[in-house]
Amino acid sequence: MVDFAADSILVLLDVTPGDELAKSAPGLLGAASLVGTAVAVVVASDEAADKLAQEAASLGAQVVLTAPGDAGLLTVPAVDALAAAFDLVRPDAVLVSQSIEGREVAARFAARVRLGLAVDAIGVSRDEEGVTAQHSVYGGAYNVDSAVTFGAPVITVRQGAIDARADAVATPVVDMLAVTASGKPAAAVEAVEEAAVASSRPDLRGAAKVVSGGRGLGSAEGFVLVEQLADTLGAAVGASRAAVDAGYVPYAHQVGQTGVSVAPQLYVALGISGAIQHKAGMQTAKTIVAINKDADAPIFDIADFGVVGDLFTVVPQLIDALEQNKK
Ligand code: FAD
Repeated sequence: MVDFAADSILVLLDVTPGDELAKSAPGLLGAASLVGTAVAVVVASDEAADKLAQEAASLGAQVVLTAPGDAGLLTVPAVDALAAAFDLVRPDAVLVSQSIEGREVAARFAARVRLGLAVDAIGVSRDEEGVTAQHSVYGGAYNVDSAVTFGAPVITVRQGAIDARADAVATPVVDMLAVTASGKPAAAVEAVEEAAVASSRPDLRGAAKVVSGGRGLGSAEGFVLVEQLADTLGAAVGASRAAVDAGYVPYAHQVGQTGVSVAPQLYVALGISGAIQHKAGMQTAKTIVAINKDADAPIFDIADFGVVGDLFTVVPQLIDALEQNKK
């Protein structure tokens, strides 16, 4: 029987269909270590469980509870495992990734065990009443704290928003959870087909650097400049909705309220005006650089560095300078 620390924080780690820990794992365990003792829950096949438990420990999990997944079922096995772990650990908070899967698991788990849910946190902290979550709301115009009035909060954490990393744990406690399947209705996966990745660029979600382009690029041909700068910096490619609607790039690149939320170390906005719906998805970036020919563009209100000028003149020079620096 494992003894759990009084300040335990339960962390559900997403596992990819290829049996890898998702990229959100370091940030989630880093967040947990800021407010307590990280107890990870890993739902995976028997073959992968040991390897994933060691990886979780190397990212700071003091205890790893493994549970058998059912590769055919979505969400419910993770909710069942989280509910079993919650009963066992009685943690001060439950952290889950703000991923598509994580959001659904967190919501179903919170409803099932009747706990308060705080979504899309960009930070966590602890005060005398317990664990609280920080959020960037109304298009990034305000930062707010949220706390629950009873029980442990269930918090989904925005990927890339938390810089803290936990120290590796050399001798983690790894234990298998006894999970009673709830038999709740679950969607079944019939086949998994990996999308062919045509690009070696990083994924937009969780990327450390993002270069985004807007309507100012003028055309799909013009948008190539965004890709060139992104490749020079080793960054992911993002876009405004106007650029997506105009067909310069596919929707998967859209950053903003109705696209992807990113929180990279560096966000470069090229020919993007900075509408509130765009800012909603990128305002928590650590350093924002904007290049726009309109000195009054609202993007400059949140930019750390701004260049007022024609991007077709400025960006090639920037690429040249960066390439020179690499030599
Ligand atoms: P514009 O606002 O047209 O700005 C283009 C900018 O390029 C201008 O500032 C201009 O000065 C500059 N420019 C032009 N030529 C050059 C040049 N040669 N050199 C340098 N600068 C140049 N938008 C999103 O991005 N993401 C969302 O998720 C999103 N969701 C939305 C949801 C709703 C419900 C609604 C109503 C809107 C949403 N929008 C979203 C749209 C948003 O309101 C803006 O229309 C959009 O962000 C504008 O994109 P843009 O900045 O590329 O274009």
